[in-house]
Amino acid sequence: MDRKFTSLRQQLATCYPEREAHAVALRVLEDAFGVSRTDVYADKVRKFSSEEEQRWQHIANRLCAGEPLQYVLGEAEFCGRSFGVAPGVLIPRPETEELVALVGRAVSGRCRILDAGTGSGCIAVSLALALPEAEVQAWDVSPEALSVARSNAERWGTAVDFRLCDMLTAVPDEHFDVVVSNPPYVCERERLAMTPQVLDHEPALALFVPDDDPLRFYRALAALACRCLNPGGLLAVEINEAYGVETAALFSHSGLVEVQTVSDVFGKPRFVVGKRAKN
Ligand code: GLN
Repeated sequence: MDRKFTSLRQQLATCYPEREAHAVALRVLEDAFGVSRTDVYADKVRKFSSEEEQRWQHIANRLCAGEPLQYVLGEAEFCGRSFGVAPGVLIPRPETEELVALVGRAVSGRCRILDAGTGSGCIAVSLALALPEAEVQAWDVSPEALSVARSNAERWGTAVDFRLCDMLTAVPDEHFDVVVSNPPYVCERERLAMTPQVLDHEPALALFVPDDDPLRFYRALAALACRCLNPGGLLAVEINEAYGVETAALFSHSGLVEVQTVSDVFGKPRFVVGKRAKN
């Protein structure tokens, strides 16, 4: 194993478990320094310049202070593409890729899609790329998130219509064929089970709901769907696995039909879908 790599890995092993330190060191070398894995394994990591040494040190310090790797690199993988991320937006999670796939299977051709609470824009941009004839609109309440999302749309050459808009209060006059959302759904009491990496660095605004009102965003989304979906249109949301039954009941009581809870690859109830009745 390359000596340079070994010393970088050792430094990270002071704050990461051994295996993770290895994977993180490989990733940083590749993403931030353009050093391939092949070079690492072939003992061919170039000598770092003093600027590169400093940059490495800066990165290692941030990582050892508990900052998530994606924020440090400024990039996160989602649906096979790299998205820019910054501390003001939630780091895209793998389960959310399944939400994109679910919507992608349900619609085709010309249609209008709304992504409510877009964050980094990963859902909106991925859907716009998967459905080139679709018109995609995306809302967020955070100007900081919208600017990250806009640059991601630009990076991938998609035309998403971004709007500064709060799904809890918005009363739009437009119609859509799909409303999709991964809203905040983690209860405050669940903080206890979460890592400092998430709690200290990711935006609470994108994560948490009050313990006494865990479905507040789903109530707003159901109302939005009943108002804005075209007849037969689809509402598809990611949920807290603890509230599958309650979210589905809320959607049915709001008047949506064909309501279903869908499990993620780990077998956990993770999505709820429903449709606006045809007439
Ligand atoms: N799945 C995310 C997490 O576990 C939460 C995403 C959300 O609140 N929408 O941290």
